[in-house]
Amino acid sequence: MVKKPFIIVAIDGGAASGKSSTSLALGERFHLLHSDTGSYYRALTAEMMRLGVSPDDLAAVRAALGGLRLGTRVVDRSARIEISGRQPGGEIRSREVNDAVSHFAAIPELRTALLEFQRGQADVARKGGFRGLVMEGRDIGSVIFPDADVRFFLHADPKERERRRVRQGQHDRVAERDRIDSSRKTAPLSCSEGAISIDTTRLSIAEVTDAMAAVVDRAFGAS
Ligand code: C5P
Repeated sequence: MVKKPFIIVAIDGGAASGKSSTSLALGERFHLLHSDTGSYYRALTAEMMRLGVSPDDLAAVRAALGGLRLGTRVVDRSARIEISGRQPGGEIRSREVNDAVSHFAAIPELRTALLEFQRGQADVARKGGFRGLVMEGRDIGSVIFPDADVRFFLHADPKERERRRVRQGQHDRVAERDRIDSSRKTAPLSCSEGAISIDTTRLSIAEVTDAMAAVVDRAFGAS
């Protein structure tokens, strides 16, 4: 059996389904670069709001996107986005951004603006000496890396997911975001064919991570 020197792990799922905790843990366990694509959509949303651009004004969205330069900064084990040289701060987790992000994320031009940036994270990981990339989002296994070595889809009961956000001190209408994310035309949230689906409702983060780690471990050993 040939050991793979580098693998890509795609993790998709709805809001508060367990993606961030598990992808961070897998990143640490296997020395993978962690990429939270939700934070990229949040950062672009915060930037649009800062510029006073509404998601209903497509011409303004296009014009604003044209003026932005996207870059990556690796902090610890995570690939953070920089917009025109600036790193976004805590505002990307604000209630305003929570409420607006799915509306911006449904705009095809905005998704296109992030497509190559997201795929480019594999090179960032290789150049940084990581053993792979673990990327979390909504369309990673379906659109960004459909040929990823491992694809997971996490889901959980909406009530439990609301409770998780409350425990994190956040106001987040997860069911509403999921509704918009699942029903949009471009790259909707869905479990892509062949992805390993895990219901995290009654499992601890450690239990979910262990189950995923066993799969990732096997992927490294695949010929
Ligand atoms: O993962 P998180 O909940 O932070 O994502 C915020 C929002 O970004 C999602 O509700 C969705 O609208 C959008 N998103 C997306 N595609 C991704 C990641 C996030 O549309 N790959």
